[in-house]
Amino acid sequence: MTSIRSIKGTQDILPDQSYRWQALEAAIHSSMEHYNYKEIRTPAFERTELFSRGVGEETDIVSKEMYSWTDQSGENLTLKPELTASVARSFIQHNLGGQSPINKLYYIDALFRRERPQKGRYRQFHQFGIEAFGSEHPEIDAEVIALAMSVFNNIGLGGLTLKLNSIGSSQCRSDYRNTLCDFLKPHFNNLSETSQKRFENNPLRILDTKAPHEIEILKNVPNISDCWTAEDKIHFEEVCSLLDTMEISYELTPHLVRGLDYYTRTTFEITSTSLGAQDALCGGGRYDRLVETLGGKPTAGIGFAAGMERILLALGENNISKITPQVYIIGLGDAARTTVIKLTEDLRKNNIRTDFDVLRRSVKAQMRDANKGGAQIAIIIGDHELEQEKAGVKNLYSGEQDQIAINKLVNHINSLHL
Ligand code: AMP
Repeated sequence: MTSIRSIKGTQDILPDQSYRWQALEAAIHSSMEHYNYKEIRTPAFERTELFSRGVGEETDIVSKEMYSWTDQSGENLTLKPELTASVARSFIQHNLGGQSPINKLYYIDALFRRERPQKGRYRQFHQFGIEAFGSEHPEIDAEVIALAMSVFNNIGLGGLTLKLNSIGSSQCRSDYRNTLCDFLKPHFNNLSETSQKRFENNPLRILDTKAPHEIEILKNVPNISDCWTAEDKIHFEEVCSLLDTMEISYELTPHLVRGLDYYTRTTFEITSTSLGAQDALCGGGRYDRLVETLGGKPTAGIGFAAGMERILLALGENNISKITPQVYIIGLGDAARTTVIKLTEDLRKNNIRTDFDVLRRSVKAQMRDANKGGAQIAIIIGDHELEQEKAGVKNLYSGEQDQIAINKLVNHINSLHL
């Protein structure tokens, strides 16, 4: 019978990789604790309408990439393709804004998008991210950016570029849309079909193009900053000055925009020099009009989402240490078996990572297993050791060997502070 294989664009995270995920997750939780962000978990699927309203009908995500279906009762449902809409839905539904004027939330979650799979681009992938609701002030923009950088620093990721821009208020964006269209009109026939469509319904997204001939056309495009209101300018300058104070360097990127109407002011992206074409690790920005769009009370908000597969790719193989047993107990013969399992259990209760052989293999094979698994100490117990009431304790890193009374082993191992 043929075996069943996983679906294209999905990945199994096997034990030789899962420790790297755990290290990344630990770094995320630790940064979030330090910045006082609280975890929120939302369901894997939602009503399709949430994403068409909250992400936008004309985005690639909603128009082409969602895994949607109609269930037996006729409800239109979708596996979540991004998290901001779900978190905002939950924020509104549970009236979190009524309970506290500021809500600093974070998530680690799986997402589903039917994209063309390639390195760094999958159909089920993972993001961590934050959504901070309640403040329109530049302090929270600066904190959110610092928090993203803190996670990357925590996990030991260098070679990062923080790209920063402001897309201003709604007024600014509608002024800019006109400026942009005036600029692009003479080039309309040279634009790709996609960009021509965007020209009609969302011209700002043309700035996201990757097509070289369009990048050339856009070389002299006016900047959105030309359309900032006085308040937009003050807000952005304050964000920059706070980042300077925190010694976080950034690159001003005048063409970094977001197409959706609820986005406002600060936008940022973090890219890595160690990735190829898919170099974006994290995208974020302010969305002061999102909660309102989803039927909540007008509430300022800002957030980011970072791709975990990409972060691990950027980190390379060697930057995270494996979690290995500290002690491996080697037993030989029937009589040793009870002593070995009792000692293993006692060491584990003392928070020592301990393993033993469950295949009744030879001493040589057990020693090989201890070395292969990366254990630091091997304890050897056979008939002779039982008779003497002493076990052989070997430091597998230094090769040093000792004889220790079996009833003193737990104390002895504890005293080594492995
Ligand atoms: P987005 O939600 O599209 O703004 O993406 C935020 C981050 O998620 C990106 O910067 C990537 O790191 C990551 N990402 C987006 N799409 C994918 C995908 N299909 N596969 C893996 N990572 C992705």
